[in-house]
Amino acid sequence: MTSLPTAHLLQLSQEVGFDLVGFARAEPIPPQTLLGWLESGCAADMDWMSTRAAERLDVSLLLPGAKTVIAFATNYYRDDPRAADSPIARYARGRDYHSTLRDKLKAYRKRFSEAYPGVKHYGSVDSGPLMEKVWAARAGLGYVGKNGCFITEPYGSWVLLSALILDAEVEAYAGGPAEDRCGHCRKCLMSCPTGALLGQGRVNARACLSYQTIENRHAEVPESFRVEMDNLIFGCDICQDVCPLNRHPVFTPNERFAPRAVAELGVMELAALTPEEYERLIPGTALGRARYDGLRRNAVYALGAAKQAEARSLLVKLCEDPSEQVRHAAEWALRHLDA
Ligand code: SF4
Ligand code: SF4
Repeated sequence: MTSLPTAHLLQLSQEVGFDLVGFARAEPIPPQTLLGWLESGCAADMDWMSTRAAERLDVSLLLPGAKTVIAFATNYYRDDPRAADSPIARYARGRDYHSTLRDKLKAYRKRFSEAYPGVKHYGSVDSGPLMEKVWAARAGLGYVGKNGCFITEPYGSWVLLSALILDAEVEAYAGGPAEDRCGHCRKCLMSCPTGALLGQGRVNARACLSYQTIENRHAEVPESFRVEMDNLIFGCDICQDVCPLNRHPVFTPNERFAPRAVAELGVMELAALTPEEYERLIPGTALGRARYDGLRRNAVYALGAAKQAEARSLLVKLCEDPSEQVRHAAEWALRHLDA
């Protein structure tokens, strides 16, 4: 089969609304890229990172005969005033980004299949065993900054990545990652409240508040991290907010990233969320990953971290909550108020 025309593949990606697209040869990834991080324990208990390691390192295990990985980036930056003080990370304030990206990728694959019916493809949107940042870098969309985020020139790090593997070649491939623009800057390393950034783009997930507020649903958040959770209950944008390469963000007109009603709530309201409010506000957003009790636990920690005196009566009430983790968080927050 002749190589697929990149200009047409680019055109298709624009039609479905991806902001950046690039092409990488589907060559295996050096094992140390993933295994060193896993062996150091930095993945905490995110076991899914290691269970399908072989497929992450060799995309031909996902799609036999894989020749090309198309990498896509989608800008999600919004600065809506009504969510300006939201304690939720920007990417999670609107509709669940998985479904937004999945819809785009589905539309792309449909167009692609119509144009190239003989070519097989495998798509991934963050949840598949694919190392999206590696492919985006190989496809020339940017590079991984010291904050561990994927940084593009036009949109900074306010992007979400997805990828499509093809069993066909394309006309032209990128030459590799874009130039590293971090230089001598260390702002993200200096600003991370928990010391989770280890340099060279490596993140210790155990120490990262994104992990602690989203993935650590079962155990308590260590006290040295709780005290850093002031106005931060789902994800953390600190190392992106301080990054000079994010100084000129581009506002996305994509309404799916527009903040939903939950992003207008403050920490106190989120700590007091009833099951009915949760059912009304959370489904369809990414916040469901933290679950009802996890979200409230985080909000209670945030009240304690902020030493918010007016939260006292709510915290006293939450000491009787049916959820053990919420109760323990409320007891800690009360003690911290008085400390
Ligand atoms: Fe640190 Fe927050 Fe960045 Fe995690 S997301 S590395 S806690 S600044
Ligand atoms: Fe790189 Fe500085 Fe941005 Fe960190 S804050 S990612 S070091 S440019």
